[in-house]
Amino acid sequence: MTNEEKIIDVKKIVEERKETLKSKIDTLKAKNIFPKLCVIVANNEEASRSYVKNKRKVCEELGIIYEDYFLKENVTNDDILKLISSLNNDNSVHGILVQLPLFKHLNENVILEKISEKKDVDGLTINNLGKLFISNNYILPCTPKGIISILESVGETFEGKHAVIVGRSNIVGKPIAQLLLNKNCTVTICHSKTKQLEKYTKDADILVVAAGIPHMITRDMVKENSTIIDVGINRVNGKIIGDVDTESVLSVAKFVTKVPGGVGLTTVLSLAENIIELIEKE
Ligand code: NAD
Repeated sequence: MTNEEKIIDVKKIVEERKETLKSKIDTLKAKNIFPKLCVIVANNEEASRSYVKNKRKVCEELGIIYEDYFLKENVTNDDILKLISSLNNDNSVHGILVQLPLFKHLNENVILEKISEKKDVDGLTINNLGKLFISNNYILPCTPKGIISILESVGETFEGKHAVIVGRSNIVGKPIAQLLLNKNCTVTICHSKTKQLEKYTKDADILVVAAGIPHMITRDMVKENSTIIDVGINRVNGKIIGDVDTESVLSVAKFVTKVPGGVGLTTVLSLAENIIELIEKE
């Protein structure tokens, strides 16, 4: 296999999933159901601006109505809870997403919890995460869902494999660990306090890296023939790079995702898929 062939063509995977999704959306529209996503942004982060721009672009391309609410720094928890409440009660809205992070004074847990389980397009309410825990998935968090779709599309098998996750966030690390456990992997979760990280990463058949540290994973830290999923998005000298030093691990790994053009693409598509799934579940 050439190094080029080892880089997973996520764009192609996403294009195929888009076709399936488009036909589902057409079917809904024929029944006078017009999928709609509302996104709430309560931060001043440059990165969030670019993520939501991307979400808008994909929704509009697929024919999903997209609406965003950019809130000012003086917004209160109560203001956001009221907004979510009105969106929960609005029958024309099918998905509600709160873009993280939030302004420091806001209470993330209380705000996410206000989203109706039936409109929780990010799968981050306690109920939806709890369902993932007991393998009774209702709606999956977007990034982990996308990672599984990438692994499946390259024919990765799961049973008995050692999956190592670097990062333990609620939106990526913990849910992807649980999904891989549900698929009968043996799972190790590493985090900022893990000692001798390479001891674990070197033994990973499937390595998922979501720490937000530019090029932290290098050739000497990965296992021969492993599949490496790079979730990290880091802005360095005006360029976006991942947590994995892709060039260096290519000589060892079987498959690698690149950044940009990797996991991020599937995250946004999973979001669009989740809106349609929520409508279909009603
Ligand atoms: P986070 O930023 O909330 O937390 C980072 C995690 O990394 C923590 O759990 C921490 O324990 C762990 N960590 C930090 N230093 C470490 C070290 N030296 N060794 C091992 N673990 C360490 O996590 P997040 O929100 O999951 O984001 C992680 C990265 O993924 C960021 O770069 C983020 O931008 C990116 N991200 C990408 C997508 C996508 O769609 N591609 C989606 C979400 C997040």
